[in-house]
Amino acid sequence: PQLANQIAAGEVVERPASVIKELVENSLDAGATRVDIEIEKGGSKLIKIHDNGSGIPKDELALALSRHATSKLSTLDDLDAILSFGFRGEALASISSVSRLTLTSRTEEQSEAWQAYAEGSDMAVKVIPAAHPVGSTVEAVDLFFNTPARRRFLKSDKTEFTHIDEWLKRIALVRSEIHFTLKNNGKTVRNYRPAKTSDQYLQRLAQISGKKFAQQAIEINCEHDDLKLSGYIQSPYFESPASDTQYFYVNGRLVRDRLVNHAVRQAFAEHVTGAQASYVLMLDLDPHQVDVNVHPAKHEVRFHQSRYIHDYILQVLQSALAQVGQ
Ligand code: ADP
Ligand code: MG
Repeated sequence: PQLANQIAAGEVVERPASVIKELVENSLDAGATRVDIEIEKGGSKLIKIHDNGSGIPKDELALALSRHATSKLSTLDDLDAILSFGFRGEALASISSVSRLTLTSRTEEQSEAWQAYAEGSDMAVKVIPAAHPVGSTVEAVDLFFNTPARRRFLKSDKTEFTHIDEWLKRIALVRSEIHFTLKNNGKTVRNYRPAKTSDQYLQRLAQISGKKFAQQAIEINCEHDDLKLSGYIQSPYFESPASDTQYFYVNGRLVRDRLVNHAVRQAFAEHVTGAQASYVLMLDLDPHQVDVNVHPAKHEVRFHQSRYIHDYILQVLQSALAQVGQ
C-alpha cells in the first residue's frame, strides 16, 4: 500500500500548506473549537496540529491511517457533499506515506490516550499508550523525506510559510468561532481568538486584513428567501491602496468565480476606481443550488440559477453602498 499511498499523496499533498489544510479540516470535522498549528522550517521539518475535537477511539486509530477509511460517508446523500469537499478518506494515509507521522488521540470515554504510527515497507500501523487530553494531535515530521523529487520541489521556508499563513487567513475569516493559533519555528505568530460578536469579528478582520479596512468596513447582512449574504465590504469613501482582501465564500468555501467577481465589481464600479475594492463576503444557499466540485483546486463553483445569484449579490451590495453614500 506504500506506493499506492504515495501516488495518492501526489494528489492530496502538494506542499506543507495542503497538508495543513487537510489536517485542520479533519479537526473542524471533529468539532474542534480550538486548533493549534505548529510548523518548523516552512513545514518541511515539522507540521503539528493539535485540536480539542472529539478524538478517535483507540480501535479506530489504525483504521484512520489506512486508505479509504473515512468515517464521514454514511449515506449516499452525503456523497455529493463529501465529493465536493474532497473527503475521500485518504488524506491521513497519504500524508503518512510521505512523512514520519504520528496520530495521538483521546476520546471523552477513554481515560487514556493512544498513539498510532505506520512503520516499515508495509506501513503496518502500531498503536502505543500516550498522554493527551481529549482531542487529537497529528505530527508530520520530515515531509517528503522519502520522495526526494517532491522535496526538491518545495520552495524556501519563507514561501511555504506564506502559503500556510494565507490559507489560515482564508479559513480564519469564515470559521470565526474557532480559536486558531500558528507557531512558526517556536514563536507564536498568529493568534485568532474566537469571534462570536461583530466587534470580535472586526478585531479578527483587523488582524487579517489590516486596521484600516476593519475600521471603516460596511457590514452586510441580508437574507432573502433561501439566500443569505453577509460579511464586510469597504466604504465607498475609503481610499484604498491595492488590496488583497477579496474573499468570497459560498457555503463556507472560498471561491474564485467569474460570476461572483463580476457582480462585486459592478456594485463597486461607480465608487471605486483603479484598485480593486476590499471585501469579505459569505453567501449561503441551499447546497442543492450549487455545484462546488467543478474544480476543487481552482475554487470554481456553478450556480444553478446563476443570473439570479449574480443580481442578488449586485443588488445587496449596491443598496448597502448607496445607503452609506447618502
Ligand atoms: P476523511 O477526512 O476524508 O474521512 P482522512 O484521511 O482525512 O479522511 O481521515 C480519516 C479519518 O480519521 C476521518 O474520517 C476521521 O474519522 C478520522 N480523523 C482524522 N483526523 C481526525 C481528528 N483530528 N479528529 C477526529 N478524527 C479524525
Ligand atoms: Mg480529511
